[in-house]
Amino acid sequence: MEYNNFINDEKIFGVLEHTQKADKSKIDEILTKALELKGISYDDVATLLNVTDEDTLEKLYNTALQIKETIYGNRLVLFAPLYVSNYCSNGCLYCGFRANNTELVRACLTPAEVEKETLAILDQGHKRMLMLMGENHKNCSLDYFIELINKVYSVRNSKGSNIRRVNVEIAPLTDEEFQRLSQVKIGTYTVFQETYHRETYKAMHPYGKKSEYDWRVFVMDRALRNGMNDVGLGALFGLYDYKYEVMGLISHARHLDQEYGVGPHTISFPRIQPAQNAPASHDLKHAVNDQEFKKIVAIVRLAVPYTGMIISTRESVAMRNQLIDMGVSQISAGSRTDVGGYEDEGKHSKDDGVGQFSLNDNRNCGEVIRDVMKAGFVPSFCTGCYRLGRVGADFMDMAKPGLIKLHCLPNALSTLEEYLVDYADEETKKIGEELIARELNDIPSPERRAQTIKYLDRIKKGERDLYF
Ligand code: SAM
Ligand code: SF4
Repeated sequence: MEYNNFINDEKIFGVLEHTQKADKSKIDEILTKALELKGISYDDVATLLNVTDEDTLEKLYNTALQIKETIYGNRLVLFAPLYVSNYCSNGCLYCGFRANNTELVRACLTPAEVEKETLAILDQGHKRMLMLMGENHKNCSLDYFIELINKVYSVRNSKGSNIRRVNVEIAPLTDEEFQRLSQVKIGTYTVFQETYHRETYKAMHPYGKKSEYDWRVFVMDRALRNGMNDVGLGALFGLYDYKYEVMGLISHARHLDQEYGVGPHTISFPRIQPAQNAPASHDLKHAVNDQEFKKIVAIVRLAVPYTGMIISTRESVAMRNQLIDMGVSQISAGSRTDVGGYEDEGKHSKDDGVGQFSLNDNRNCGEVIRDVMKAGFVPSFCTGCYRLGRVGADFMDMAKPGLIKLHCLPNALSTLEEYLVDYADEETKKIGEELIARELNDIPSPERRAQTIKYLDRIKKGERDLYF
């Protein structure tokens, strides 16, 4: 099958070149236009990428936060990753799971081990999981991965909690494999392109299936044609010029929106961290500094206003706190990237190099929740949209005009209440109950507010999983 090539080097380099000298009034015009929530033009994205002065960047950050709040309100969705296998037959030069890393102890979890990991994740209060693995179907096949998804859904902890939605991040599949995966209920299917720059891609992926650029860059075309409703994009920042990568991400988002009427449900922003025996994770030629990274995140919020934007624990606490103030809408919390790492807690230290890469935010989920609330955001474990069929184009129809937040805040409050009753310590409970009382006033519809108050009451009395 032929797909439309959406990465055009000449166009990307050309637009980055001719937008270098924009004056302040042009930039103000772009920021004002962005508040209409319709995205900004390709030229405008390039213009903002070329901005360097602090005052303008501050304005950009504020605009990004305003857009995020208009679309999603001030909720911040939390999730936990679960790595089920670190077997990999690819040679990605930046990754600790690469086949050449002979020092890595390889493992693929058994169903019983997945059960233990799921229990450990549930006991942190999570309801939403991202399942991942390396690419090696001999040691961990797609059918086995699907069996493990079903295993996760079947687990309940002593409080009766279960994982309500599994998102998936695994290597690109064939048409037929996507059809098989679509038989289980998953949320978003995510794959990071790593780099949209063909030559760099080739250098970074010397062997294995992943060395085929086209196979990876058209993965979402195959996914959306074969039963996936929601897809997630990402670029691994640090491999190539960040401006090029942002133009690549935006081109990809537009391509999906135009071809399938469904833009990316999420965009992730992994930035390379040091990894064991992974030469391209050290001494980066295209390292992205903190200021550039914040600019990237804020610009994507302006360009793709409706998308969920994800920051993982690759980033430090300080950086994550800044990024949630400029448009990020989902974060992982209490994560482990080593196979079996949750249950294994205590046997390995969290940054001893046995994971895929090292982590910079080692707070547990409870600490993240407390800090998020203190920063004025509402932590949310909501999975409502996936479960009520607000997916694909239907989700986009609600997210694009900013209607989705009518559901987001009430669902954030009801899932936070569950967390407070089941998992929080006294201090967190107090902060949380005060936050919920304040936030109820921000639900615009009196009927929805009244219904939310009823839900909160029922949750306090022992009911669970009440959502809109
Ligand atoms: N093996 C699948 C794949 O490559 O798509 C599944 C995902 S892989 C386990 C998750 C992602 O981690 C990769 O797509 C890559 O972007 C990211 N990653 C790999 N090495 C990294 C590093 N050293 N620092 C930060 N992120 C890294
Ligand atoms: Fe394997 Fe994915 Fe790591 Fe590449 S990034 S070595 S494909 S796990």
